[in-house]
Amino acid sequence: MDSRASRSTNLAAAGGRMYGLIEDLYPICRSITGDGVRATLRRLQAELPLTVHEVPSGTAVFDWAVPQEWNISDAYVKNAAGERVIDFQRHNLHVVSYSTPVRQRMSLAELRPHLHSLPEQPELIPYRTSYYKETWGFCASHTTLQALPEGEYEVVIDSSLKSGSLTYSELLLQGATDDEVLISCHICHPSLADDNLSGVAVAVELARALSTLKPRFSYRFVFVPGTIGAITWLAQNEPQLGRIKAGLVLTCVGDAGALTYKRSRQGDSSIDRAFAHLLKQSASGRVIEFYPYGYDERQYNSPGINLPVGCLMRSQHGQFPEYHTSADDLAFVRPEALGATFGTILGALRVLEQNHTYVNTSPKCEPQLGKRGLYGLIGGLDLQSSQLALLWVLNLSDGTHSLLEIAERAAMPFDLIAAAAEQLQETGLLVARA
Ligand code: ZN
Repeated sequence: MDSRASRSTNLAAAGGRMYGLIEDLYPICRSITGDGVRATLRRLQAELPLTVHEVPSGTAVFDWAVPQEWNISDAYVKNAAGERVIDFQRHNLHVVSYSTPVRQRMSLAELRPHLHSLPEQPELIPYRTSYYKETWGFCASHTTLQALPEGEYEVVIDSSLKSGSLTYSELLLQGATDDEVLISCHICHPSLADDNLSGVAVAVELARALSTLKPRFSYRFVFVPGTIGAITWLAQNEPQLGRIKAGLVLTCVGDAGALTYKRSRQGDSSIDRAFAHLLKQSASGRVIEFYPYGYDERQYNSPGINLPVGCLMRSQHGQFPEYHTSADDLAFVRPEALGATFGTILGALRVLEQNHTYVNTSPKCEPQLGKRGLYGLIGGLDLQSSQLALLWVLNLSDGTHSLLEIAERAAMPFDLIAAAAEQLQETGLLVARA
């Protein structure tokens, strides 16, 4: 186990790598299908051996069908002087995602119903989509729209909406067992940094870290377009879903807000308890109950799927002013926040990996620790705490309490309890429950 000092150095380096990946991915115009998703996955393939799947438009997936594929090369509104007053080349949020093609001259009055802005945040460009209703539109700052004079405009959206495919990607890191932990993030938002790219970057860093270890669980990473991508992945993998023992959806994990963990529908699964413990121990962040809205945890926790998949966020989607606007940009995410998120998830995965139940082999009165050299053994940790951790593990290891339950009852960090259990095993005072 790394020391605390080397862990924090590692987190800083990881934060820098994750931020660099976000910078690379930020300019790409993604949607739920199309070349933006493919370009994103190609960039991720430079980091990880991802398998990319293409699922044809029209494929039935539970109650849904894979939609037509959308691509865009250019879009603008030009004024009478031929100047681009709204320009997709300057920011891809300027076009409503899934806009149908347009090439027309029209008056401002005709154009108005297709223009979207945020009067309460007049300098920001909103993010809008129209996946399941065929229409077109532009988004711009309210200030820009207010300044448009009456007159004729040239309106062009050079897009295509055709039969093609939906693209998603996955990676399985095989562990010692076939029991799986699922890590899922969405890859369908255009130039938004916290919502979408922060989750992608943290997932990539987790996969990189886990691939150097020999974990007990197998880890399955899925990079899917939101909603339809998760539904497609679930529909295509239904026979194997029983292997998933825990899971996590990552979204909005790079901003400066405190961590928010949203419980799975089951509410008290191993991953729910791991995050509840960690956030309580660190006295930062909060745990919220499951509700059937949000990101792809909605699909993983639907009643017929019912996987123990929680959702990790910092600021909660829909509840911060930058959400789904041009202010969710590269300045809104921070390497330190990404690093801290990554460190907390690693802590939760350590809990899942090491949460065994043991039996004290000398349960009649306290065993003598001194003669076994167990005083002051756990280097770098407070001596009194490490002694107390030994006593808690010995006391509650009667074959009915897991290490996490012991950590909860002792109100001590799981890592300290797990380190104590390791020492006790080495002296033969503790054995794994048969
Ligand atoms: Zn979003």
